[in-house]
Amino acid sequence: MSAGRPIDDVLADLAALRAADPPTHGGRVLSYVYDPGRPDLDEVAAQAVRLFLPVNGLDPTTFTSVAALERRIVAFARDVLHGDEGTVGSVTSGGTESCMLAVKSARDLWRAVDPARAHARPALVLPTTAHPAFHKAAHYLDLDVVPVPVDPVTGTPSAADVLAAVDDRTALVVVSAPSYPFGAVDPVAEVAAGAAERGVACHVDACVGGWVLPWWGDDVDQPWDLAVPGVTSISADLHKFGYAPKGASVVLYRARERHHAQYFATTAWPGYPVVNPTILGSRGAGAMAAAWAVLEVLGTQGLAELVAATRRATDRLVEAAGAVRGLRLVGTPTGPLLALAADDALPAAEQVDPFTLVDEVRRRGFLFQAQPAMVQPDGSVLPRTAHLTVTAVTHRVVEELVATLAAAADAVRGRPAAVPDPSLAGRVLTEGLPDELAGVMATLEALPGDVVHPLLIAVLAAAVDPARG
Ligand SMILES: *Cc1c(COP(=O)(O)O)cnc(C)c1O
Repeated sequence: MSAGRPIDDVLADLAALRAADPPTHGGRVLSYVYDPGRPDLDEVAAQAVRLFLPVNGLDPTTFTSVAALERRIVAFARDVLHGDEGTVGSVTSGGTESCMLAVKSARDLWRAVDPARAHARPALVLPTTAHPAFHKAAHYLDLDVVPVPVDPVTGTPSAADVLAAVDDRTALVVVSAPSYPFGAVDPVAEVAAGAAERGVACHVDACVGGWVLPWWGDDVDQPWDLAVPGVTSISADLHKFGYAPKGASVVLYRARERHHAQYFATTAWPGYPVVNPTILGSRGAGAMAAAWAVLEVLGTQGLAELVAATRRATDRLVEAAGAVRGLRLVGTPTGPLLALAADDALPAAEQVDPFTLVDEVRRRGFLFQAQPAMVQPDGSVLPRTAHLTVTAVTHRVVEELVATLAAAADAVRGRPAAVPDPSLAGRVLTEGLPDELAGVMATLEALPGDVVHPLLIAVLAAAVDPARG
């Protein structure tokens, strides 16, 4: 038995833990967190969470407040993403859940077409840049993944290549608007049209783009949402550019039968009749309430203003990165996501290694995300990059960020690119991660998946192992 502790003492402990985290506000962390730079939005979100903290979204017939909120968010998203009267959907716990549910729906409808398919294993066709949530869905739901290479220059696949991978086993084709690694919008209209011709479902992963692209500007030069015939589902994360706290995303379907196929229902126990729209059973409604409150306070006008600020910062960063000798931007991003690669048109002595850059920038107070190189199924290689997600707050620090990027690049230019060190794997397991991650990332990049996956799992599991103290 342990005695309880005074509340202030416990809260002080929590605050101490939080103090060790990177700053979630202020624009210094360019991935994971999305800061609108608006304390009023944080405040309304916090109050909404508090109001809805005790309710259970498991049963919207009991807690009708949750059903009402979900209807309103789905309707808001349907209007923004150009759905119509037939568009329905769910609020989920995040992008991963939205994507997994779209796969579950497509899988079950694919199987329902023919009794011979009832126990067959369907496939998921996706560009190599598609989010790992789809690999996770395939893993959990027993589908095969058919990856389609993207052009290493533009970061997008050709629609012809995607459609050539579609066959009788394809339950779903995935395209991104835009993709996370390079911020590139896939050829949605052509892929969706081809998929529809073949009677195959097509999901647009707009998890990161769904609440940005509608207001991004004229250079979104193609339709990418439910306005495109043949798009059967779409995901858009409220906890990214909807500026909700973590735990909120939306998945929409063009038709009610697709939404129904996402559900699970059973009466095969002596308890209450179970109907779960999403993966969870008991379901918190705090993030959903906060998401709705933030959307209402902003309106589409407020969202457009936040996107305009995000756009200005992105344009400034694109311009500045282009002027840094030794770096190059991958593709032409549509949206607030940038990937910086070493400029391999220059001699090695003038290149900037992205992994080394990420370490140097971190020392100077900004967090970028290291993205390893990848060999595609056709043998072509997507480069190692440094990723930046720009948010509405970034413009306030953009000149400091630009100066830091330039100074860090000057400091590391010409240093040999980080190389794998096989001894690091063992050392990371016993000693934890070093301060400089370039060597670790280069090692991960070089090892085959069947070696690196268990290693990653062991390192992350060790981080939460009580034996570590
Ligand atoms: C973030 C993201 C996801 C997954 O979302 P989570 O909310 O992290 O689970 C899926 N697709 C894209 C393109 C994303 O950016």
